[in-house]
Amino acid sequence: MTKRTVPHFTIKRRAQKGGYLYSDILTPEILRDVCLRVTGCDEYTCEFIDGGYNKGRLAILEYQGTITYVSFSEAGKIEGRNSFFQSLTTALVGYYREEREQKRICFYFLPLEGNVEGPYFRFMYRVMATAGVEFLNDDDFLKQKIYPFITTDDLIAARHSNRSSNRGNNSTYITKGSSGVPQIYGKTYGASKKEAALLCIVLSHLTPSRVELYEICEQDLSELPKPDLEVIRKLSNVEIIPTSLSMERVSFERDDKLRSARFIYNLLAKLGPKKCALCGCEIPELINGAHIWPVADIKRQPALDTALKLEYALDGDNGLWLCENHHKLFDEGFLLIDRSGKIECRSDLEEKTKEYITAITPVTHLDPGILTPRFDDYLQKRYEIK
Ligand SMILES: [Zn+2]
Repeated sequence: MTKRTVPHFTIKRRAQKGGYLYSDILTPEILRDVCLRVTGCDEYTCEFIDGGYNKGRLAILEYQGTITYVSFSEAGKIEGRNSFFQSLTTALVGYYREEREQKRICFYFLPLEGNVEGPYFRFMYRVMATAGVEFLNDDDFLKQKIYPFITTDDLIAARHSNRSSNRGNNSTYITKGSSGVPQIYGKTYGASKKEAALLCIVLSHLTPSRVELYEICEQDLSELPKPDLEVIRKLSNVEIIPTSLSMERVSFERDDKLRSARFIYNLLAKLGPKKCALCGCEIPELINGAHIWPVADIKRQPALDTALKLEYALDGDNGLWLCENHHKLFDEGFLLIDRSGKIECRSDLEEKTKEYITAITPVTHLDPGILTPRFDDYLQKRYEIK
């Protein structure tokens, strides 16, 4: 590459959606401001390219041997948080695939209307900062400074705190496995499929140890977008574990202790981060996804076909987060849950045993959020059979 002595922009002209042109939106004043903030120079040259779409809302700026990816926010009225961040992820993936060593990635707010500082936005800005994105003009648009995450736990807690605004959105979840390994559960389809690559990049920055990415595929293995996968594979500490319904079916038929990524995903979606429903223990190494209607009982139903059995076995409403102790006490029938969510010891237990169980079980009623009609169905099925 020739070392440019005057900063030079290369920008694909056509927007992917919306039918506008970047040559109209990225005015000389804006480009001059960007150039000044990135390079310190206020003179530049610029070339708009006509082939293909501009997928990352991106301008490439080259100057003195450094290549800078500048991704722009949406302009005007902000339509939704997903579209706001999707192109940034595309830009970030491009940046991570960039082979030149002297590289930077920046984000620039275009003039816009709407709240871009809600909890989800703030979370995503922090994710971006952790992934190495420099904000060029956040001071002009945001009240609070953006700080990168420092630890995995920090990231998991922040993800949790904006969960309510995130619910039912085919989100990507971050948790820890039974050996403490950070895990990402992400869908490979739908609006959030771009989040998986982003969160892999961020987690691999936050921890030197192994990270697991569980890809939840819709039918058979339809993997993440190719460029995203390429970047994830480049991150040496991320292990990709794809899982499709047909794979889950095989494991369901083979094993009564179903270890299913999809069940965990569905529990994370319904219940949030791992936390024992009966004692509040939050040590992920100790928390299991416990079935209400047990897998072995579901499998014994002659009237159900396999697809339906599998659906019951994977349903987030058919589960609870329980610590090892409470899981065992529940499965062995020491602890009972009635239809109002009340927790009770089995009446014929020894006093000593009851006292112990009562002492380690501060929760006397399940959280009302857990008690959905489907949960109630599973509860009835559990006790019908026993
Ligand atoms: Zn517990």
